[in-house]
Amino acid sequence: MARERLYLFDTTLRDGAQTNGVDFTLHDKLVIAAMLDDLGIDYVEGGYPGANPIDSELFAEDRKLATTFTAFGMTRRPGRSTSNDPGLAAVLEARADAICFVAKSWDYHVRVALETTPEENLASIRDSVRAAKAKGREVLLDCEHFFDGFKANPAYALACAEAAYQEGARWVVLCDTNGGTLPHEVEAIVGKVVKRIPGDRVGIHAHNDTEQAVANSLAAVRAGARQIQGTLNGLGERCGNANLVSLIPTLKMKPEFSEKFEIAVSDEKLRSLVHVSRSLDEILNRASNRHAPYVGESAFATKAGIHASAILKEPATYEHVAPETIGNRRKLLVSDQGGRSNVLAELDRIGIAVDRNDPRVARLLDVVKDREAAGYAYEAADASFELLARRMLGKVPAFFEVTQFDVNVEQRINARGERVTVTMAVVKVRVGDESLISAAEGNGPVNALDLALRKDLGKYQKYIEGLKLTDYRVRILNAGTEAVTRVLIESEDEAGEHWTTVGVSPNIIDASFQALMDSIMYKLVKSAAPA
Ligand SMILES: [Zn+2]
Repeated sequence: MARERLYLFDTTLRDGAQTNGVDFTLHDKLVIAAMLDDLGIDYVEGGYPGANPIDSELFAEDRKLATTFTAFGMTRRPGRSTSNDPGLAAVLEARADAICFVAKSWDYHVRVALETTPEENLASIRDSVRAAKAKGREVLLDCEHFFDGFKANPAYALACAEAAYQEGARWVVLCDTNGGTLPHEVEAIVGKVVKRIPGDRVGIHAHNDTEQAVANSLAAVRAGARQIQGTLNGLGERCGNANLVSLIPTLKMKPEFSEKFEIAVSDEKLRSLVHVSRSLDEILNRASNRHAPYVGESAFATKAGIHASAILKEPATYEHVAPETIGNRRKLLVSDQGGRSNVLAELDRIGIAVDRNDPRVARLLDVVKDREAAGYAYEAADASFELLARRMLGKVPAFFEVTQFDVNVEQRINARGERVTVTMAVVKVRVGDESLISAAEGNGPVNALDLALRKDLGKYQKYIEGLKLTDYRVRILNAGTEAVTRVLIESEDEAGEHWTTVGVSPNIIDASFQALMDSIMYKLVKSAAPA
């Protein structure tokens, strides 16, 4: 039997960006959009063009994604025409494949918040959908407060949804904006909506205020909805949005859904889910939730004892799905089997051939474990892991050595009476028999050190000309008296390839220096620079 198509809509970059403490840069947004695109998400909502400079810039050019890249915006303001509303114009002009409008669907909000009549709100929905369709865009309408609105005045809530549908909106999305609706209510209400609007035109947008956003999304699908809106790791204001990272494996692996529905995330991409989830945490500079369903580090961890020995004999005894299917791994706190196969899988991925019983593999595993306990994050810093592995397997030349560095930060009053901070770094490098000294000024100690280090590497200089640092993240670990600093540096080369390196030390300059050195060494290895 042919399975029905179910569509996933990600709003990490728009609704997720409403989270306290989350502030995406343009670079962050582009990296996350590319990651979602690669995963197989049907729609990626990038932001609200016209509402802030970053979102305007994001939609200023064609981002060339396979996904339906979507701009978010409000329907035309009450009492205005579509041609006389600058906010709407910015959304209509955005370089997006689709436009997702938000409109009120609770008559109480129309009166109190919008201060207009129910009829004018309906006209605004129709006019806005029509204007976007005329621009050749696919159109979605997010019906804000739909479930609360439906409970108060079902006829009006339905009229809003139908106005968009009749005007040709591809999707009418029912939003549980306050997040207080329960799964059985969602199922009952969506069941009524799909009698008026075909289910394959209906979406669900659930918030997590009763910790049931995932359950509410699944309830809506059971009742007939065919699009789910959510975010990576459930990011979103207050308690978050429906978590796509939990929904995707559920839809793909639980027979009630997997036998009936098909999503665009392939089995192969499903195996990258742990990586996707943790990459978002790294970008946000947040610790990952160890207990997150499916992707958490502890999601498949079993303590020693009868459970562990049973798992070794037959994993299905204590696991609801196989951890590898989402790129996670079984963790038995009694054996290092999982760790060893993980390291072997990594070596295989980066193309280092080694016998699985080679004693150096066990040594590498010990070093990785020790260093991760000390704060290194090799899961995020692929390039540092590769360097460490190549070093331990004796495959990295000693290209150059930094024999000494000095960083000086000075704050003073300049001739114009302004307080200025000047940073200067001096680096002594030995390349073969040559001794080189470089100095550079920077806008901070790490920047100055980076500039000095990369100023003159003698015969290796030509290999690092195209090297750029694209991101720099600092996290303080085990805050307290024993605090250490972890620095993650993301680099890019002339071919557009990205990699991440890590450094850990009680001293932020030292941690940064390690990550900088790894980045340069990795580039030299990658370019096959001669010893
Ligand atoms: Zn929302």
